[in-house]
Amino acid sequence: MYALENEGGIKKVKKLDQFLQDNLNDLRDRGLYNEIDPVEGPNGPVIKISGKELINLSSNNYLGLATNDHLKEIAKHAIDQYGVGAGAVRTINGTMDLHVKLEEKLAEFKGTEAAIAYQSGFNCNMAAISGVMDKNDAILSDELNHASIIDGIRLSKAKVIRYNHSDMDDLRAKAKEAAESGLYNKVMVITDGVFSMDGDLAELPEIVEIAKEFNLITYVDDAHGSGVMGKGAGTVKHFGLSKEIDFQIGTLSKAIGVVGGYVAGSKDLIDWLKVRSRPFLFSTALPPGDTAAITAAVQMIMDSTELHDQLWENGRYLKEGLLKLGFDIGKSETPITPCIIGEEKLTQQFSKRLREEGVYAKSIVFPTVPQGTGRVRNMPMATHTKEMLDQALAVYEKVGKELSIIN
Ligand code: PMP
Repeated sequence: MYALENEGGIKKVKKLDQFLQDNLNDLRDRGLYNEIDPVEGPNGPVIKISGKELINLSSNNYLGLATNDHLKEIAKHAIDQYGVGAGAVRTINGTMDLHVKLEEKLAEFKGTEAAIAYQSGFNCNMAAISGVMDKNDAILSDELNHASIIDGIRLSKAKVIRYNHSDMDDLRAKAKEAAESGLYNKVMVITDGVFSMDGDLAELPEIVEIAKEFNLITYVDDAHGSGVMGKGAGTVKHFGLSKEIDFQIGTLSKAIGVVGGYVAGSKDLIDWLKVRSRPFLFSTALPPGDTAAITAAVQMIMDSTELHDQLWENGRYLKEGLLKLGFDIGKSETPITPCIIGEEKLTQQFSKRLREEGVYAKSIVFPTVPQGTGRVRNMPMATHTKEMLDQALAVYEKVGKELSIIN
């Protein structure tokens, strides 16, 4: 499909409009073109799309902080004082005292010597992996790691060695081979802390053990764990491994509710990233309103577990309700609640009917998850009320019976 056309033995290059039309039509024909529906208002527990209110089970705004009144006030105040933009990259004069405060707060939050903030979680993985690893290195990567990790590894030019999802025997064997091959200067192991498709946790204690045995650098992207696991402090803290993990990565866009990403680690690591990671050097700093709101959001998570506890209570309630109805909710260890339907078309039809009945829960199908394991993924939030969850469960029951997914 992407190959050059071959006419009479001469390869003819495609013009852009031809390339786009061919490929867009192909995606549309195969039902793989993702139409985007704008949300008309805040991304809260209920959202409005096309004028219709829907119970929102598809947000990463786990703690409801994206719409928190206190944080909105903090952001407005910072905008009044500093303006809407940082004006430059961090190394010229885009570093405001607000960024310094944020990074100190992130280090305190993660129990590390220092931290560095980036403009997004995606950007952060590109920056951190390629800032430290190069073509003389190897990276052991869980096969289900996030796209931004995959792209960060590609950018680094290090040799990628994928291991089977959370398979510690496979990791150990591949770590031994890489570390003892004599081919590489450094070897890193990278894993998500929480895997967002199933809600399962990385086997961090075993990963740390293997890393110690073979001198591996350890890298955990806890995008879905920060604010959720370890009473809010994350998956690394949950396992008591704050001193053992070299790179603690997180996003500031999910439970923290704003935007951005960070690395927390040793002072030397952060000093190195400040001189070597290209998004820090060449992309404008986080805006002041966002930066102030993020710092306050992290402080809120550190000060109280109330929202965290409510999130877990809502997750437990939703899981119990779906199980009682007879749905397969997989092996989640977090509030993320997949509802595994199986066949791709049926999964998409299920999600579409849920939406028509007032519940917004996105379908996730192959190639994002393995073939035949299509699912509707539910992301409860701390700000859902019991009534909202009951309403969602009633819709699940109705649509599940209608499509013969449950009896
Ligand atoms: N890492 C992981 C594991 C993620 O799930 C995501 C978000 N989809 C990211 C990184 C990217 O984070 P952000 O949306 O803040 O760019």
